[in-house]
Amino acid sequence: MSHQVVIIGGGYAGILAAQRLHAAQVTLINNRSTFTERIRLHQVAAGERRPEHAIPGLLRKGVTFVQGHVSALDLDGQQVIYRDDAGEHTLPYDSLIYALGSKTGNLPQQPVGAHGRAPLRSTEKSDAVFTLDPASTERLAARLRELPAGAHVAVVGGGLTGIESASEIAESYPHLHVSLVTRGAFGERLSRKGRAHLYATFQRLNVQICDHLDVQSIGDRELITERGAISYDACVWTAGFTVPMLAREAGLAVNDCGQIVVDRTLRSLSHPNVYAAGDAAWVAEMPIPIRMACATALPMGGHVADNLNALLTGGPAKPFEFRYYWQCISLGRNDALVQIASGDDMPRERILTGKGGAVFKEMICRLTINVLRLERHVPGLYRVPA
Ligand SMILES: Cc1cc2nc3c(=O)[nH]c(=O)nc-3n(C[C@H](O)[C@H](O)[C@H](O)COP(=O)(O)OP(=O)(O)OC[C@H]3O[C@@H](n4cnc5c(N)ncnc54)[C@H](O)[C@@H]3O)c2cc1C
Repeated sequence: MSHQVVIIGGGYAGILAAQRLHAAQVTLINNRSTFTERIRLHQVAAGERRPEHAIPGLLRKGVTFVQGHVSALDLDGQQVIYRDDAGEHTLPYDSLIYALGSKTGNLPQQPVGAHGRAPLRSTEKSDAVFTLDPASTERLAARLRELPAGAHVAVVGGGLTGIESASEIAESYPHLHVSLVTRGAFGERLSRKGRAHLYATFQRLNVQICDHLDVQSIGDRELITERGAISYDACVWTAGFTVPMLAREAGLAVNDCGQIVVDRTLRSLSHPNVYAAGDAAWVAEMPIPIRMACATALPMGGHVADNLNALLTGGPAKPFEFRYYWQCISLGRNDALVQIASGDDMPRERILTGKGGAVFKEMICRLTINVLRLERHVPGLYRVPA
């Protein structure tokens, strides 16, 4: 019987791995039947309708697709446990590729202290707090549509997701008051020119910047900060990506965030027949930091498949190599900041902005889905020169 590979997670990393892995019998499990273009969820939040991509239609012939929620891993028994409408099932594997990605939003849990108001402990408890995950994004889009002029949308988190979300919402809903609240300095990981462009853009879009401000907890319709309460009508929580706890619970070696620790060949340090790619993986001994990004998930997904193909056909597994070229940040539909970066992700004083930047960013977004489509016919086509 041929080698059985189960891939859990049908995001950028998981689907690319499935397209490329020809030396084994491949089954891919994902909780949704459609592929989520996560890098466009801020556009969906701001009201844009995006085409749906059914996963079975994306996958190459021969890959089996299973829609289900993976609830546990039995590492000793080499099986994945998942649920669907019909109940709980198991799926045996010889090798497992773990590509469950991440979620946005790590809500603060601290007690409120001096203000004496009860904090919300999860997004479920408020109809006005949202994250940029598929279901929450749909609810946010509906909420934004119904807000009256002057209502306050507070975007929490000054990372790329927060910046993209604040500018997209402000551009689409100029009658709303949008602010961005961040613990650090605004645009702190950008070059001087890049930061200057961000400030100019936020001024043009009337987005208020509240930086060096720590949100301690979220109350009902108010953020409790160290400098007092800020009321909101919708809160978009983008601070921090968190990964599923499944790997930790199963007993795989994970880092403090719960990402699977893999060697340079993307193989688990604790369980050699488990591989990981994308946001859910942490590569030990990588000379440069690998941030959670589509830009890193795609090459990792491709690489894990290349290595399994090699191992199963008697070849050597190769170390994962990667370098950065830029960071692309959309600032609404007509502007973007393309921040040129060094190979280890440090910003250089070279940027591309305005309409040219927006076109470049749009090309990159289209490339990601086109890579997944093209690899169905030409596996191995996509390479990032390292
Ligand atoms: C608004 C926004 C904008 C972004 N913009 C950019 C950008 O411009 N550039 C960039 O490089 N990155 C960007 N990112 C980050 C990027 O989207 C992620 O880093 C990337 O999606 C990670 O890919 P992945 O394959 O590891 O996981 P994901 O794309 O998260 O895919 C994981 C898949 O696993 C599924 N899954 C999860 N748990 C289970 C389970 N228990 N059972 C079954 N299935 C499960 C999920 O539904 C999903 O389909 C952005 C993110 C957001 C939210």
